[in-house]
Amino acid sequence: MSKLAIFGGESAVKNKSDDIFMRNITKEMEDAVLDVLHQWKMSSFDITKEFEKAFADWHKMKYGLGCNNGTSALHCAMYGAGIGVGDEIICQSTTYWASCLPVFSLGGTVVFADIDPETLCIDPDDIEHRISGKTKAIMVVHYAGMPADMDRIMPIARKYNLKIIEDVSHSHNCLYKGKMVGTFGDVSGFSLMSGKSFAVGEAGIMLTDDRDIYERALLFGHYERHSEIINPELQKLSGLPWGGYKYRMHQMSSAIGLVQIKQFQKDMVEIDKAMNYFWDILEGYPGIKAHRPPKNSGSTKGGWYCSLGLYKTEELEGLSITRFCEALRAEGVGCSYPGCNRPLHIHPVFNDVDIYGHGKPTRIVNATRDVREKTGSLPNAEALQKRVFGVPWFRHYWPERIEEYANAFKKVIENYKELLQGDTGDPEELGGWHLSKR
Ligand SMILES: *Cc1c(COP(=O)(O)O)cnc(C)c1O
Repeated sequence: MSKLAIFGGESAVKNKSDDIFMRNITKEMEDAVLDVLHQWKMSSFDITKEFEKAFADWHKMKYGLGCNNGTSALHCAMYGAGIGVGDEIICQSTTYWASCLPVFSLGGTVVFADIDPETLCIDPDDIEHRISGKTKAIMVVHYAGMPADMDRIMPIARKYNLKIIEDVSHSHNCLYKGKMVGTFGDVSGFSLMSGKSFAVGEAGIMLTDDRDIYERALLFGHYERHSEIINPELQKLSGLPWGGYKYRMHQMSSAIGLVQIKQFQKDMVEIDKAMNYFWDILEGYPGIKAHRPPKNSGSTKGGWYCSLGLYKTEELEGLSITRFCEALRAEGVGCSYPGCNRPLHIHPVFNDVDIYGHGKPTRIVNATRDVREKTGSLPNAEALQKRVFGVPWFRHYWPERIEEYANAFKKVIENYKELLQGDTGDPEELGGWHLSKR
């Protein structure tokens, strides 16, 4: 093997073009956006309703509600599911803040659970003992493209009569044992912002089969669509948004979405093939492990958003992930940084901050007990930053190009001993509160 690039050798990735990571932006998509512009229909909702129907049909769900982002779709889902003052939702600590933070504005709070260190989704064994008389829902995040263990989670929800809300922002088109995620629970919310796998701009969508949830979500943040409400009790009180929020989706995004729905599954097949090819090459190499469901389980990674590798420092004599990633970046793997979302339970906003001036931290203002988790109490979430790193998110199955990246990994792993010397370890803080700031 040639000398590591970090020591002045030639880098393993020769073709540095990022075309392999690029999305397909079609003429049809451009025309659809321009059409909205020329008709000056940015704020109408006729195209949005078409998009909602197409998205819901694709998931075999009854109702879709387009929103101006994923955060608002989840906020609508929480309100729709009946979360209110004093209620608790259980959510994994390793996630983007929008999975749970909007619950504060409903007067509710969050109880954090740990993750399974291999799936990075909620640990089903860490849910039940966190349920209290106030628990209303489990927020299931299908994290970094991985489906959560629904066979274990659903019976817990049934046993305690809890709602399941799914955050599908990382996992469009992802299957759990053959069934699409976002269709297991009572309601689900998806981010469709530009960085996600199914991406249409700043947008989100809520899906449900439950008419009550749908109508409550309409009431909450979609005042101009209150004529859709058929429940006479709610209809009487409609016209103004109950939440005081305006969550309408931008129609240029809806137009992109309508086109994207047609090409997405084909794009996903290619991404899936490319990513699995990459990981198949590296199967069995020490120090790293693919973050993907077992083969032939019927589960898939869908869009492979936020594609991560699992790092096993003990298999490389304790080589720090920081040093490992540095060596990969020198080889031309530009996305190779340690960490992902930091555990939310350690952030001040979930501990000390009094957001609304109640004279108490917002997290506990309506709680009957102190729900805050101590640092050290969610060990997998807290240790995660040294256990995962970013891997290339290939959008095209171009085997020779993918092999160059896989070769960079092989080269670093085969020569890891050279990296031990001069390894100054990991800095105090890795990862970030959101993924664009890794
Ligand atoms: C992106 C994201 C959201 C929020 O979506 P926005 O469209 O950015 O508002 C929610 N949950 C998770 C897990 C996300 O990654």
